[in-house]
Amino acid sequence: MTTFPDEAAVPVVCGRCPPGATATVGETIVYGRLHWSRLHACTDGPVLECGRDEPPPEVRQALLDQCGVFRLRLSGITSRVAVLKVLRDRGTALSDIAAMLTALTGQGLPGTEMELRLLSMRLDGAGVTTLSRERP
Ligand SMILES: [Zn+2]
Repeated sequence: MTTFPDEAAVPVVCGRCPPGATATVGETIVYGRLHWSRLHACTDGPVLECGRDEPPPEVRQALLDQCGVFRLRLSGITSRVAVLKVLRDRGTALSDIAAMLTALTGQGLPGTEMELRLLSMRLDGAGVTTLSRERP
């Protein structure tokens, strides 16, 4: 499996650090759920923030900008119902499902590496998924 840089740096406003302080953000998959973290190596001691599922928007954007926009494609769908169920369970709005399915079977659904790896795991058995990176 090819690996890509899976951490990005984001600016941090910190009263104890000089201006220009940064934190390291990353995503990982733990027990079938997306986990995100933001670690600031503060002069006062490390500050770790983390959570499950949807990361804060600026964390996701930094990962897309610095680690790459990935695309997940689905081919050879064995069960359209299974694909629809995975998308529904993921919390996709009904109105977005058609567009998502078109993206998955066409040019690819864009996202961070880990969110798409997780979706790929969930789609396992519903078809053949491929993950590719576009940029940077
Ligand atoms: Zn600090």
